[in-house]
Amino acid sequence: MAKEYDLTPRIVPRIETQFRKIVTEFPVRKSIAILQRLQMYEPAAMRGQPPVVWDRAEGFQVYDAWGNQWIDWSSGVLIANAGHGRAEIKAAIVRQVSSGLLTNYCFPSEIRSRLVERLATLLPEPLKKVFLLTTGSETVECAIKLCRSHGERVGGRGKHVIVSYDNSFHGRTLGSQQAGGIPALKDWIMNLDPGFVQIPFPDGFRTANNSFEGFERALRERNVEPRDVAGAIVETYQGGSGAFAPAAYMQELRRWCTSHDALLVCDEVQAGFGRTGTLWGFEHYGVVPDLALFGKGMSSSLPISAVAGRPDVMDLHPAGSMTSTHTGNPVCCAAALASIDLVVSENLAENARQVGGVLQEKLRALEIRFPRIGRVDGKGLVAGIQCVAAGTKEPDSELAWEVVERCVERGVLMFSPVGFGGGTVKISPPLVITEAAVLESVAVLEEIFAQATSEKTAVA
Ligand code: PMP
Repeated sequence: MAKEYDLTPRIVPRIETQFRKIVTEFPVRKSIAILQRLQMYEPAAMRGQPPVVWDRAEGFQVYDAWGNQWIDWSSGVLIANAGHGRAEIKAAIVRQVSSGLLTNYCFPSEIRSRLVERLATLLPEPLKKVFLLTTGSETVECAIKLCRSHGERVGGRGKHVIVSYDNSFHGRTLGSQQAGGIPALKDWIMNLDPGFVQIPFPDGFRTANNSFEGFERALRERNVEPRDVAGAIVETYQGGSGAFAPAAYMQELRRWCTSHDALLVCDEVQAGFGRTGTLWGFEHYGVVPDLALFGKGMSSSLPISAVAGRPDVMDLHPAGSMTSTHTGNPVCCAAALASIDLVVSENLAENARQVGGVLQEKLRALEIRFPRIGRVDGKGLVAGIQCVAAGTKEPDSELAWEVVERCVERGVLMFSPVGFGGGTVKISPPLVITEAAVLESVAVLEEIFAQATSEKTAVA
């Protein structure tokens, strides 16, 4: 939901704990000049986040320049998996910068060779070729291209349909936006490609029947012939809610794609690199896609993304025809290698599983306690709390905004609500967060829900 935060400084309770520190009014009066400068020179669309002026970030904490300190429940936007400002990542970046090589386009470089090898080694068969890009949206565009090229190769030009899911988000470029399942975001596209088809996501909440039978029925209802499907693109979990599909559904989908010569694409831009308690999100399903898309948490810092895939698919395009100016930028590669080393050597997926287990349990207790929480979804260190009008599944974006705003005022940093109707409060801390910090931040959340909503009364 489009909304801007009120920039009028207001007094908030002074808070000083082990992890949080709010010692000034909010937003800080001294930050107003910065916020106004951004408003003057950036498009209005950039104004959607809480007015915290980031000055420094370390581990799972973010600091402004005026003495305030937050527990970070955003990781930026699920970027800082290995933690903010990690010394090892900074050192790797500095080393690469000092080496004198800041860019090299698609010319070979040793550091790019190391990163693609590292990723291919960590990934299961058959994801053994890796194409580096810069953003998540680009990986989705690339996947669309590969699905359609593969479809044409095996079934002719009619085999071009890309199946994706309602309420999914895959990026804001022309193709990735059409693969997405949020109609309002596509209003600007005048010539929507009928070859993009969305079907209900089996979340077991808004789509009550989450069996695979729904997939085939949805295709029939949309007059899509299975033989015309080039690929199915699925967020490993829905970013807008944190919901996973049932493993049985994904296993059926894997089989269906194989038997219809369609590619299965997992968009792991949010789910990759330990976020969900396993190194790759698709591990929860016991399936391996034909293409996996990565971004965000790949470097915990600089912009870099990747498409990993089946070699025969990745090699469909001849030399020079699938490239990008900043592909595998050496400084970004250095950051990614260092971040991946940390995620692996510190077993941050396991920390996400353990500490995330505590988070998930506490949040589900809130779901039972508060009627305005319609649903909590997520695994590991990602969760979505869907705020609803009591007793319904109608999203309540007002409540979600209020919760985010008050959390931020009290030292728990979140990005603005996401998801269906803008009603989801999303939680995605760096994977280095401790149990103590999770417990402290959940207590803040609980207090805010208690103040903002009435509790479920006991039903006899
Ligand atoms: N896929 C998913 C699942 C995402 O969450 C996002 C970004 N939120 C994207 C793709 C697009 O990534 P980017 O913003 O880096 O283009």
